[in-house]
Amino acid sequence: MASLEFASIRDIRVFLERKEISVDELLDFYYGRFAKFDKKIGSALELFDKKSVKDRTRSETGLLAGIPGLIKDNICIQDRTLTCASKILAGYVAPYNATVIDKLSAQGAFFIGRANMDEFAMGSSTETSAYQKTVNPWNAQRVPGGSSGGSIAAVAAGLIPWALGSETGGSVRQPAALCGIVGSKPTYGLVSRYGLVAYASSIDQIGVATRTVYDNALVLSAIAGTDVKDATTLKNISAVDYTRNLTGKIKPGLKIGVIDNALHADGVDPEVAALLKNALKEFERLGAIVEYVKIPVMDYSAAVYFILSRAEAASNLARFDGVRYGARSADAHTLSDVYELSRSEGFGPEVQRRILIGNYVLSVGHADKFYNSARQVQHIMRAEFLKTFKEYDLLFAPVSPAEAFPFGAFANNSLQMDLQDYFTAAANLVGIPAVSIPCGFTSNKLPVGFQLMGPDLSEELIFQTGYAYEQVTQWHANHPEL
Ligand code: GLN
Repeated sequence: MASLEFASIRDIRVFLERKEISVDELLDFYYGRFAKFDKKIGSALELFDKKSVKDRTRSETGLLAGIPGLIKDNICIQDRTLTCASKILAGYVAPYNATVIDKLSAQGAFFIGRANMDEFAMGSSTETSAYQKTVNPWNAQRVPGGSSGGSIAAVAAGLIPWALGSETGGSVRQPAALCGIVGSKPTYGLVSRYGLVAYASSIDQIGVATRTVYDNALVLSAIAGTDVKDATTLKNISAVDYTRNLTGKIKPGLKIGVIDNALHADGVDPEVAALLKNALKEFERLGAIVEYVKIPVMDYSAAVYFILSRAEAASNLARFDGVRYGARSADAHTLSDVYELSRSEGFGPEVQRRILIGNYVLSVGHADKFYNSARQVQHIMRAEFLKTFKEYDLLFAPVSPAEAFPFGAFANNSLQMDLQDYFTAAANLVGIPAVSIPCGFTSNKLPVGFQLMGPDLSEELIFQTGYAYEQVTQWHANHPEL
């Protein structure tokens, strides 16, 4: 039998086509990996019964025919439990499929379980999950990053070839960088959010986690496109094959702008900076023009993100009131009790903190100072980035300032935790695509990644560039020992 250990989707498709393996053997292999390793990793909140996974197949052909994936637990799969890793949604069953699930099903994909995450996607380490801990497959003392830590750890550990996560401030790219895999965040509006539980709707996007650039482009090809069920999707986007330009060559004359104030920011670990600079040398060897550029507004992104994400979260999470979804407090006797007790018991401390801050920044007398100012800065950021893209095809920046941190590292310093989004939140706020790609290891043998950002709908160019880099460096061929 073909070797499936850490096989890419691209390879698996060949194995299936040549009939070197069957779909059943493939499923058995991944269920076997979960059984063997997920006690340690903790990536899945639930693995679905194998038979039910197969019975739900909608197509035997397509881009992902027979290839299983893991779905972050904030994306609805019809008739499956959905909790957002929160107690408040305990017992909730999704009544419909997210559009991405329908699209992937139509391409023959299997969904074998629900991935752990930070509660309601709020966090950078997956530590805020109300249910379980997920560890970094490279070192069990370290966090996998977050909020899509379950999705990313599963892919990095080879428990599954692909997974879906969600991105509001970096939740796919940051864990991807900390676990040594490829994570992408598409242009705002490219992928439907119908059926994604909202965190901060003006910036949320579904993102893809895979071990290679090719695989990432392939999964995005399956989920991208206009959706009549999500009015925020871009109009007239038809199916694109994002793998079509993956030739191993970069675009002739490609100009990469390195965000100087990011790469040289205080707090970027020198070891991380050195690995990023090695990656830049590779891009030069591939023929790219690499120049440093300052984008001072990027330094505001964490602050702007902090305010906007809390404000929108406070509004979006108002619907979890103990009446309509999931858990209701057993001690509630009056209507206000139902609201107050269900929310106090159901939401964890990080989520409660964010709701409080969100309501504060939106309240009379404060909205102008905080919320409206943050919106204005967001618009300035977008204008500045778009201006920079007149000069440069792509921008290059760190993803995370340092390697994966130990559990509890920021337990008493939530500001430090919030600063984990420092380099990632800009792409979300500006609405542009960005992909995190592995570029080496620190002396602690922990992975590091860089990110490429591009103008609206430049996914093809980002993948083409990232793929060329991946071919000459082969970092993706390194795997954790479990
Ligand atoms: N760390 C960020 C936050 O806690 C990112 C979350 C996300 O992208 N979902 O809000």
